[in-house]
Amino acid sequence: MLKFIRITVSVLACSFVAFLLLYPLLIEHSIQYEHPDQGETRFYFPETYEAAKEHFLEFENVLRSDYGRVEHSALRITEDERLTIDTFIVEAEKAERTLMITTGVHGIEGYVGLGMLDVFFAKVYPDLDKETTNLILVHAVNPWGMEEYRRFNENNVDLNRNFIDDRDRFDYEFNEAYVEVNGLLEKDRPLRQLAIEDTGFMLSAISHVIASGADTIKDALVTGQFTHPNGVYYGGLEDEVSTAFMKELMKEGLETGVAQLVYIDLHTGYGPRDQMSIFNTGQDGMSEQEAMEAFNYPLVFAYDSDGFYGIVGGITEYLYGLKDELGAETDVFATTFEFGTLGEGTVGSLRSLKYTIDENQLTQQGAENFRTERVTRHRYMEMFYPSEAKWREKAADDFVEASFGVLGHFGFFNHQ
Ligand SMILES: [Zn+2]
Repeated sequence: MLKFIRITVSVLACSFVAFLLLYPLLIEHSIQYEHPDQGETRFYFPETYEAAKEHFLEFENVLRSDYGRVEHSALRITEDERLTIDTFIVEAEKAERTLMITTGVHGIEGYVGLGMLDVFFAKVYPDLDKETTNLILVHAVNPWGMEEYRRFNENNVDLNRNFIDDRDRFDYEFNEAYVEVNGLLEKDRPLRQLAIEDTGFMLSAISHVIASGADTIKDALVTGQFTHPNGVYYGGLEDEVSTAFMKELMKEGLETGVAQLVYIDLHTGYGPRDQMSIFNTGQDGMSEQEAMEAFNYPLVFAYDSDGFYGIVGGITEYLYGLKDELGAETDVFATTFEFGTLGEGTVGSLRSLKYTIDENQLTQQGAENFRTERVTRHRYMEMFYPSEAKWREKAADDFVEASFGVLGHFGFFNHQ
């Protein structure tokens, strides 16, 4: 009997050691962000912030060949002179409409953002009615995060939770659910061996899911939180530099008095992997069915959709509030184009939760070994900037389809 126990214990111990050793190798093999060959896609997908910015600045020539008034501004946001929010403001002769597009509100998502601006100039821009269409194009609202391949900004703030309209009346402690799941989220130590981290997360997540459901964890996070400055989805206690800049830009956009302002904010990460989502704010009054018909597009999240979630301090939501505050006559439509990466369902949600938390812990606390760090970074890249050429090509096609759908609906093209 004693012998049997001894054998069992040694088998278990050996399996555990094997698991510890093999697991990281398997994981590392399964997820590997590799800079894809530019020749594999029709459009330009940058690998560095510098390359993206350089490419964006080249659009000025295109704009100048069509428009008399083109203004470029570069706003530095930290000590680092290279990191700027670059904006083109383009005025039409007989302005009736304004199209505003922003990228990189979540820094790392700015890579797909720039790719989509490249698609925009190749496929959508030529058909715009330039006599009546103003443009506001913003590259890298969060340039620091883009350069660092992070979603959050230089102060760990999620800019898409930082657009609070009335801070005096805002309840910074509203998100009690976040405090509840905090143990799962924030660890006050460096990342350990991957096998331990991943198993620990799985066990902890499963017990949380059983106790309160997967949605509770997701809601606790994505809504945004204002109590844990080192945590994920932290909205900040004051307007960030990027936020103040964007608020002013939106105000100017509304003050031109055009009849229509359409604002498209480009994001990656949420939704099904193979189909970009048009993610509305819920403030436009359109149901899912109405929006799908109006835009002739197969995937829209509206206030009545399954999987629709409200966020606090969102940038597109802010524009609606601002319009009301200013009493602007301009009709506003603000939405997010969301390019899904990890897929939907509990598995997709848990993976994105895990990768988000790990990357934050790595940034705040470091990692005990190099392999853990490398896998954590690769996972994070794939979550926001999939390397697969097929994914990028489909993203481009969806962007074109959705842009024609939305902009066509609001009368931005010549042939209407
Ligand atoms: Zn985003």
